[in-house]
Amino acid sequence: MNRKRFITLAVLLALLVVIYSQRGTLVMTIMDRGMPTILAGDPAAELGDGLHIAVCGAGGPMPDPKRSGACLMIIAGENRIIVDSGSGGARNINRMRLGIGTIDAVLLTHFHSDHIDGLGEVATLRWASAANISPLPVIAPQGVETVVEGFNRSYNFDTQYRHDHHGDTVAPLSGKGMVAQPFPAPEGGESVIVWDQDDLKVTAFEVDHKPVTPAVGYRFDYRGRSLAISGDTIRSANLEHFSRDVDILFHEALNMEMINTMNKSAQSIGNPVIAKVAYDIVDYHTSPVDAAKSAAAAGAKHLALYHIVPPIIFPGQAAAFMAGVNQVYDGPTTLTEDGMIFSLPANSTAINTSNGF
Ligand SMILES: [Zn+2]
Ligand SMILES: [Zn+2]
Repeated sequence: MNRKRFITLAVLLALLVVIYSQRGTLVMTIMDRGMPTILAGDPAAELGDGLHIAVCGAGGPMPDPKRSGACLMIIAGENRIIVDSGSGGARNINRMRLGIGTIDAVLLTHFHSDHIDGLGEVATLRWASAANISPLPVIAPQGVETVVEGFNRSYNFDTQYRHDHHGDTVAPLSGKGMVAQPFPAPEGGESVIVWDQDDLKVTAFEVDHKPVTPAVGYRFDYRGRSLAISGDTIRSANLEHFSRDVDILFHEALNMEMINTMNKSAQSIGNPVIAKVAYDIVDYHTSPVDAAKSAAAAGAKHLALYHIVPPIIFPGQAAAFMAGVNQVYDGPTTLTEDGMIFSLPANSTAINTSNGF
């Protein structure tokens, strides 16, 4: 190495050492300059007029590094609705900067824990991040009154602390907690309109998650665009009926072969609890191939699989999870992950995807 090159390298190294030693100060400067942009940004408004679905939770009850508990946020005009409120959903909505304080309502498909265990966090952040003056409506089949009452009681100390500390500017007591808005669970062949405002109509229909009842899915229609969400179900002819010709079907998916492997592994290590759970859960969910058959039967134009069970952890596992799907369904398919946003511009046929993180 010649002398000149040596000196250049030495100077560069010294510079890097100085930058590294000052990294704390540098980060604070960057945060100082960037924070106003982050706080003022409104990615939801930038999506434009259409029906938008942000995946705030693509997973089931088991931990998956890319998939939190079931949660979909629908943005359509002035409407902001969450379907199911699984663990981690509120954090993902904040990470996507979709304005958790602007949420109008939560719809629940059923009352399994992995669909409701993020409710407290959603209600608290919606209330205290935007000083909401009315409680979060939770729209679901009858029974939701009990769920909401329990959460409200559990959060009573917290809401009082926050009001006492921050006052009405942040935490007005009139907006604390949630309010249940139950509807009679529809029978097969029937539907119930649960939301109809600002050009968005949401229809609930029965799905089959027995022995869990009630269990419903939802169809969203907005300015010529449509979406159906399965909730938890086995393959359902009723879902196919109410999802007719939708632009996009979000369907739950559980890979039976992978769960059977889990069952055998649990037996081999002498864990009867996990073995029994793995044995039981296959009878009230839908395989990826059956979800694809439903999409084909309904004439759905795009299939997005969510509520993915088991977690996708190993390299190549996603391909194994989706094996056979393309043989039964011609349209595009997506194995969803947290942070994905599907945008259906009003009165068009386009489906655009982007990453909200
Ligand atoms: Zn369930
Ligand atoms: Zn579930």
